[in-house]
Amino acid sequence: MTLPSTDTVVTYPDGDLASSGTVVHLQPLPDGRTAVVLDRTAFHPVDPVWPDQPADAGELRTAEATYPIVDAVVGATDGETLHVGDAPVRTGTEGWAFVVCHLVDDATGLREGAAVDVSVDPERRRALSAGHTACHLASLALNDALAPLWTKEAPADGRGRPNFDQLAITTSRILPDGSLDEYRIGKSLRKKGFAAAELASRLDEVSALADEVLAGWVATGAPVGIVRDPDGDTDGMRLGDRRRWRAELPEGVVEIPCGGTHLHSLAELSAVTIALELTEAEGALALGMRTTALPA
Ligand SMILES: [Zn+2]
Repeated sequence: MTLPSTDTVVTYPDGDLASSGTVVHLQPLPDGRTAVVLDRTAFHPVDPVWPDQPADAGELRTAEATYPIVDAVVGATDGETLHVGDAPVRTGTEGWAFVVCHLVDDATGLREGAAVDVSVDPERRRALSAGHTACHLASLALNDALAPLWTKEAPADGRGRPNFDQLAITTSRILPDGSLDEYRIGKSLRKKGFAAAELASRLDEVSALADEVLAGWVATGAPVGIVRDPDGDTDGMRLGDRRRWRAELPEGVVEIPCGGTHLHSLAELSAVTIALELTEAEGALALGMRTTALPA
């Protein structure tokens, strides 16, 4: 049994819902499930670098049988061991191969070298892609709406606004047709010049402003998608490649590092809106942003 020596070729960043590949490795797991590694896949796994988007749903098919995929995680191997879902190094680290591990309950009949078709549940993927696209747009709109609350120059986002999202984010979760972002506004953010004391009284104004910006973007139907950093190889996108979300907004192109899946165009949405909630949390403020995307 050999361990994979190259990264899985991944086609989900392009929006693919089906792929054909070959089994390169099968690894039984302590819980009785089996990790199935293919040379290429359209199936989006949970990536520890970007754990915001959950795994796709779907199945593997051979000529003889169908295997429901119960979960998918990133595996990493240095040629000695395949670490399934608990890689000791960051995805993309030199000298390691990063692979999509499709987890199945019962791998009876699967063999290394077998030809396998992958299919992804299209509705779940569409909903998660819509949620992810909306999440990135909302982060930019929030930065825009909070810009007047900065009293000092702060690191800027792709549109030149103070990057509140990047400076304050604690967790981000992609949901079907939406997302949930949590921000922490503590002493260090105040020191950087964020007027935290004003936020509570201006919260409604901020969310109305962000909604207005979002409505303007959705109305443009701008193209969105994932691009690979230009230093990647040319034989397809690989799991360890760095990727960026790109939105071609009429006011200019914006990019954000991203490992997930996205819509192809904002014309697939009819609206994106946010709801903000501010709470006190020991010595800091916690801001929650719930984003909702309505399909067109
Ligand atoms: Zn992303």
